[in-house]
Amino acid sequence: MLDTGVVQGGPIMAQELNRRRFLKASAQGAAAAGLAGMMGSMHLPSGWATETQQRYDTAESITSLIRDYTAKAASNSLRLDTGEKTWDEPLVGFARGDDPIFEQYKEVIGPFHWTPLEAFQLAFPQPPVKPSELTVISWILPATEAVKADLRKQTTNPSEKWIRARIYGEEFNEELRKFVAAALTKSGHPADPPVFQSKFKTENSQRFGMASSWSERHAAYSAGLGTFGLCDGLITPKGKAMRCGSVIAQIQIPATPRPYKDHHAYCLHYAKGTCGLCTKRCPAGAVTKSGHDKMACMKQCAATAQYAGKQYGLKGYGCGFCQTGVPCESSIPV
Ligand code: SF4
Ligand code: SF4
Repeated sequence: MLDTGVVQGGPIMAQELNRRRFLKASAQGAAAAGLAGMMGSMHLPSGWATETQQRYDTAESITSLIRDYTAKAASNSLRLDTGEKTWDEPLVGFARGDDPIFEQYKEVIGPFHWTPLEAFQLAFPQPPVKPSELTVISWILPATEAVKADLRKQTTNPSEKWIRARIYGEEFNEELRKFVAAALTKSGHPADPPVFQSKFKTENSQRFGMASSWSERHAAYSAGLGTFGLCDGLITPKGKAMRCGSVIAQIQIPATPRPYKDHHAYCLHYAKGTCGLCTKRCPAGAVTKSGHDKMACMKQCAATAQYAGKQYGLKGYGCGFCQTGVPCESSIPV
């Protein structure tokens, strides 16, 4: 699964990492400057300058902020002449900064995985805050039907729309993280996307292999947005063909209930002993009944980068066969 958090990356992702470094630098610079100028430098949808004067201090207003931006921003685009979008309406969830689950992640993933407080204080070291004053805001960007259908019919090489969604869709997601952090900060609630921090990196988790300082999929799990599947992807109410994002803000928003007790509750393999279709969809054999082989997955992603360049003239990668043409593609299958 291609996603942040439990990392799938490698040399082929150099271009993406460079972009991230730039974004980290701009996000940190903006944080230091009170994010005052960030929104002015963004390509905001028309009429947004006035809308962003609003206060964002409720779950509803923050959810609308994320949904409206995704609906209106021209950058939510596959960059095709057809004008097709990459993402449908996002799901949004909230987790408390003092939720004990974040301490559990240190035990499960590794001590290097940040708590919300640790991540927030990298951006805003002063004044001191308490974990209970923080909220993790998490979102799911579900792929459009056209993007999913394009890959669904493929068996070996990824489709053009899927690769475009992976490249340009993640660029949009990066813009969205900056936008949400800037809007909240401007509204009086300092906010920061942990994945843009210069200290954000991948480390070796004893249990899971490569893992990052802040897993946005685990943030989404904490915020009630889904559980993990056999191939490591997060199965959400809008399925697994998605990307997720997050920011941490100094604001107190009631937590979204987690309607599950088990972290595999939505996967047919774990819940009912059936399915396993993602093992068949993966062209690299990187998913088996034992789980997800990250190294095999990374190798396949490298191959897709070569294919994307040769076949479509695109700079980036995109696999995701395990996310389409499976029962958990667009909904919770159990
Ligand atoms: S395809 Fe089936 S086994 Fe694989 S994650 Fe989805 S529900 Fe689980
Ligand atoms: S289909 Fe296989 S190689 Fe491709 S992203 Fe999924 S697990 Fe990785």
